[in-house]
Amino acid sequence: MSDKNSTPTPATDFIRNIISQDLDSGKHQHIVTRFPPEPNGQLHIGHAKSICLNFGVANDFDGKCFMRFDDTNPVKEDNEYVEGILRDVRWLGFDWGENLTHASDYFEQLYLFAEELIQKGKAYVESQNADEIRELRGTLTEPGKNSPFRERSVVDNLTLFRKMRDGEFDDGTHVLRAKIDMASPNINLRDPVLYRIRKISHQRTADQWCIYPLYDFTHGLSDALEGVTHSLCTLEFEDHRPLYEWILAEVSAPCLPRQIEFSRLNLRYTVLSKRRLIQLVEERHVDGWDDPRMLTLSGLRRRGYPPSAIRLFCKRIGISKSENNIEMSVLEDSAREELDKTAPRAMAVLRPLKVVITNYPEDKTEEFEPSRHPKNPDMGTRKVPFSREIYIDHDDFRIDPPAKYFRLAPGKEVRLRFAYVIRCEEVIYDSDGKVRELHCTYDQATRSGTKAEGRKVKGIIHWVSIQHSVPVEVRLYDRLFVNPSPGSDDPGGNFLNDLNPDSIETVTSCRVEPGLLKAKPADVYQFERVGYFCVDSKESRPEALVFNRTVTLRDTWAKLEQENSGQN
Ligand code: ATP
Ligand code: MG
Repeated sequence: MSDKNSTPTPATDFIRNIISQDLDSGKHQHIVTRFPPEPNGQLHIGHAKSICLNFGVANDFDGKCFMRFDDTNPVKEDNEYVEGILRDVRWLGFDWGENLTHASDYFEQLYLFAEELIQKGKAYVESQNADEIRELRGTLTEPGKNSPFRERSVVDNLTLFRKMRDGEFDDGTHVLRAKIDMASPNINLRDPVLYRIRKISHQRTADQWCIYPLYDFTHGLSDALEGVTHSLCTLEFEDHRPLYEWILAEVSAPCLPRQIEFSRLNLRYTVLSKRRLIQLVEERHVDGWDDPRMLTLSGLRRRGYPPSAIRLFCKRIGISKSENNIEMSVLEDSAREELDKTAPRAMAVLRPLKVVITNYPEDKTEEFEPSRHPKNPDMGTRKVPFSREIYIDHDDFRIDPPAKYFRLAPGKEVRLRFAYVIRCEEVIYDSDGKVRELHCTYDQATRSGTKAEGRKVKGIIHWVSIQHSVPVEVRLYDRLFVNPSPGSDDPGGNFLNDLNPDSIETVTSCRVEPGLLKAKPADVYQFERVGYFCVDSKESRPEALVFNRTVTLRDTWAKLEQENSGQN
């Protein structure tokens, strides 16, 4: 990939600027950040943006980043997600060292902070049910009304709250609310709920608790307990910031982290909301969280994306407060750029067309020894056998070639990569009129690397020797959705209507050069002239290799979109 096509990389961002200033002014000596996923799903490319930011900032400023699970909702959380998240963060290249924590580690302290609020008259036990609470909350244009339980005495509140903790009440009968302002224009400040009763076993604390703190209460206080200096979150939490600051100010918090919001990543032609990803998985529209069409980190890994490509992508999109809708090509280009540097080359014929080289001896085999990587001689060479019967790709032959078609056609010449120039002498048809095979002749004087090479043949195509090649299965992936903004054209917003029916094409008759027999799961190759392909880590077997197409060599979608919009 040439540099002129590369998207420029932002050197820094407004968050790093703030942090630099805080260090320069002496406000902080050390920077502490955190990445706080809820273990209710696997990580996606949007999370990668947050991971690269939080861990990246800690690395850049020699600080630390906590890997903290926000595990306050025992209903939806699962240990399988915890393990998957840790694996993905590590795979992406980040290390939390000793700083692996859970909001649930702080349940006892959080509880004491809640009692402190009650003692100060800043929180009360609410005994209305959820509907009644909602009724009095007001709307964006109308203020809320005070709850009849708002003026309970401190003693009553403490007694009730302790009984809540002791399991004396049923789910939904009481909650603890902050006492802030029911008339606040910011609905988050209208006496938000801090604790609720949930008689459900928690994946870490088991049955130790039957009351659980809510996100807003837990988050800021966990930040403070960890000494987080900059709590970086996405823009939807902007309206929660006054509550974040209120809570920290009202309790004896050990420090005052600063919340800074940035815009979340949106990518065209995909969905990144966990709720939707879960739906895709549960309703089996995809083959699990790591389906190579999913933009989860596990899906991208299985698809063949190297972690460096994802980090490069995150660097390119940068950090800002402006809403964005990133083109998929930015992600794909990052993969192309990284893989171009690292992927060994190989020849693979996806749709084989038999070619018999009639003037080549029947029992002869030659071995060519091209480099594994054209720009990296350290990767060494490979052996590619050549014989009388080869496969070329159906796409590289036309009965009726258009002008300037430089591949094979009746009577025309083409160079076989690393080998010879051949001429198509005869086309053999099936009984139904389809091209079955080609009879060609080769010119011995045109062997690659010899002096006679100087002959003018414009096209070069790839091939494999039939008797030496290895049959493999190849899965060609395309975007999971046909709409750049899935669900946007549907009155009900049903994004499933926009699923791409052709998002996977399985090609079972492919042939690859024999060196690929050594390929291991997750190895990525560049199939010359075709794209980057990765050995599937789930379903590939040494005796039945399966390759996933990571990305094509060029951005075919940009061209399609241009054609569709009539600009071409
Ligand atoms: P979703 O909205 O998809 O359900 P979430 O925000 O609830 O995701 P969390 O597990 O809470 O998922 O996210 C952990 C961190 O990752 C949060 O700090 C969140 O802001 C960040 N994050 C999640 N999605 C994105 C995104 N698309 N772009 C940037 N950061 C994101
Ligand atoms: Mg969240």
